[in-house]
Amino acid sequence: MKLFVLHFVLTIIVSVFSYDSSKYSGYKVYQVTPKSLYEAYILKEFEHDEHFDFWTEIRSINLPVDIMVSPLAQNNFEAIMKSANIDYFVNIDDVEASLQNEENTSGRSIVTRGSVTFSDFMRHDDINAYLEQLAQDYPQIVSIESIGISFEGRDLLLVRISSGGSNKPTIYVQAAIHAREWIAPPVALYIINQLVENPDNVNLYEDVDWVVIPVVNPDGYEYTHTTERFWRKTRSTGTICYGIDGNRNFDALWGTVGASSWQCDITYRGHKAFSEVETQAVRDYILEHKDDIKLFLDVHSFGRWLLYPYGYSDDEPDDVEELRTLGRLFNDAIHSVRGLNYTVLSFASGLYYASGTSVDWAKDIGIELAYTIELPSGGTGFDPPSSDIEPVVEETWEGFKAFHSYIVDKFVTN
Ligand SMILES: [Zn+2]
Repeated sequence: MKLFVLHFVLTIIVSVFSYDSSKYSGYKVYQVTPKSLYEAYILKEFEHDEHFDFWTEIRSINLPVDIMVSPLAQNNFEAIMKSANIDYFVNIDDVEASLQNEENTSGRSIVTRGSVTFSDFMRHDDINAYLEQLAQDYPQIVSIESIGISFEGRDLLLVRISSGGSNKPTIYVQAAIHAREWIAPPVALYIINQLVENPDNVNLYEDVDWVVIPVVNPDGYEYTHTTERFWRKTRSTGTICYGIDGNRNFDALWGTVGASSWQCDITYRGHKAFSEVETQAVRDYILEHKDDIKLFLDVHSFGRWLLYPYGYSDDEPDDVEELRTLGRLFNDAIHSVRGLNYTVLSFASGLYYASGTSVDWAKDIGIELAYTIELPSGGTGFDPPSSDIEPVVEETWEGFKAFHSYIVDKFVTN
């Protein structure tokens, strides 16, 4: 109990000093491995503290947790870890220094307007300009649609790639509902780029349509470029804090487990399900097309996980064997590129309990095949060097092609 009192008092002391959250100089990332439920409970005490940003969640004992800690709280944190005899080490000594590998974190991506690059992280308006250009250049196969306007007024662009006709089996991919997961938009853009601009891939949209939303949360995404690199939520205005966690805002046992009711937490679920214009836009599109959508993919980082429902409970879907089988096909295809693997598990057993996730909602409304993809970590986690983009997008593309083959086999009858 003394530990908690100490933590509480020190938290109050450090909280009176404001700090510039846009700079990560002196921030460290600790890797902590709780060895007992008691130790996990002590770690949990830090979850609501603004000086602590959990990059990976507390899952179960003996699994490491990555926590970014502000300079003001490090002494306090280390003292508590030592006195409670909890194993930890400093994984990143200076987050700001590690960010230097990510080029143009606050500048513009170097890309000709209307084109795409996989050697740098693109800004949102450059991404949209590329999609608009493709729709202009390839009107027979590419159509774009604004499915809504973000809280701050950005177009939520969706691109559909189709050889024509209607009601074809559709693969739906969305990325960057979590703003800081920068490797997700390039993976989504590479799908579009390969389908549209690589003639070798014509057969991949012959019988199957692809629908891709490269950036579901553009306000948060832009905020990570301009102001706070590790922002996760949307940017809607609360009474005290900004934003909600889009992947806790869907109507899938919303507001039950693994989602905070406190607006300043990074997993804040919102005041009701679908409180955000961004999640409403996704919901409305999917509900309108759910009979065609045969595969739902929500792209995140990081961890090399392929997660099937559910996040909200330990229950397994009736078709769990099929979800696992297809998951293995995805992994085998990726493994063939450079020998790396994904772990295929349910959301709750792979990551942690979470309610209000899009993948559970997709499953609940009847889209049988639904996954959350946690892409590889880069650099130290959320900050892959731009030189990592190409190997990651190329590797993941092989996984998407395996998904496509399965959808053709299962749903296309000739
Ligand atoms: Zn995420």
